[in-house]
Amino acid sequence: MHSTRGLCADWLVGDDRLSYIEIWPSSIAFLTPNWWESSVAEFDTPQSALGILPGAGPRNIDCVETPIDRGEVLRYLGYPVGYTPKETLQKTLDDWIDKANAIATPRATYILLPVVEIDRSWIRLQGREGITEFAGAIGEFLGPSQYIAAFIATAGPAVEHFASDLMSQGDDLAAMVVNAVGAERAEAAEGAVIEELRKQMVSAGFVPTLPYSPGYCGMALTEQAKLFSLFGGEGAGVTLTGDCLMRPLKSISGLIGLGRAENIEAHGSPCDRCKLYNCAMRR
Ligand code: SF4
Repeated sequence: MHSTRGLCADWLVGDDRLSYIEIWPSSIAFLTPNWWESSVAEFDTPQSALGILPGAGPRNIDCVETPIDRGEVLRYLGYPVGYTPKETLQKTLDDWIDKANAIATPRATYILLPVVEIDRSWIRLQGREGITEFAGAIGEFLGPSQYIAAFIATAGPAVEHFASDLMSQGDDLAAMVVNAVGAERAEAAEGAVIEELRKQMVSAGFVPTLPYSPGYCGMALTEQAKLFSLFGGEGAGVTLTGDCLMRPLKSISGLIGLGRAENIEAHGSPCDRCKLYNCAMRR
């Protein structure tokens, strides 16, 4: 058992008083009154992650500088990987890609939460306001994770408005390209979150998992409401409709696990074990 250096916080979760204890210099623990029993949740914390300690508020990435990936835009348009369109079409595509890219404002927000309990089909995360439980194929995606970064990433509202204007003018091809750019820019914002987490955690030997989003791979879309509640209902300018759809539409939300590199690598990709062989999102 570690020796403790200080009590950082103490609050009620349901009827239980939960104490957040920092065990300096490199670990934290969440202790319930019966902490000596198996319900004790104890985590190693990378020292380099002090800037994103659980319990801190969301961190924002307001400017995503990742250049646009034209190959990814083509993939969203349905082209096979590595395909090059004919020269005349390529020029039209490039023009619309450039226009959409110029007005996109990709940004993201994320919050880091410790895992309290995890099973094949659910995960419990400790937040400031209490425990949030997500249901889905959690074990497949986030199994060896000790922390979860919940995130919201978006291409911003302008791309979507542009696409819908083009659609109403009857320019379906341009609207499709602009929408594909929106999807790519939202993905770039998600990538910026993963990259920031990777940099923060690398020196402690922690790596991120693939992101796992509500509405995909066995997690119901309605789990989105829980995720947004971690951000007070809105994050990075993205809100949720009553049907759990994000506005702007070209947005991504999800959970990214963080665990020891050897454990995450040994767990591999959930796609390797998935039987949905024709899944277009296979990674
Ligand atoms: S193959 Fe598709 S459905 Fe299966 S885990 Fe991968 S992304 Fe999810």
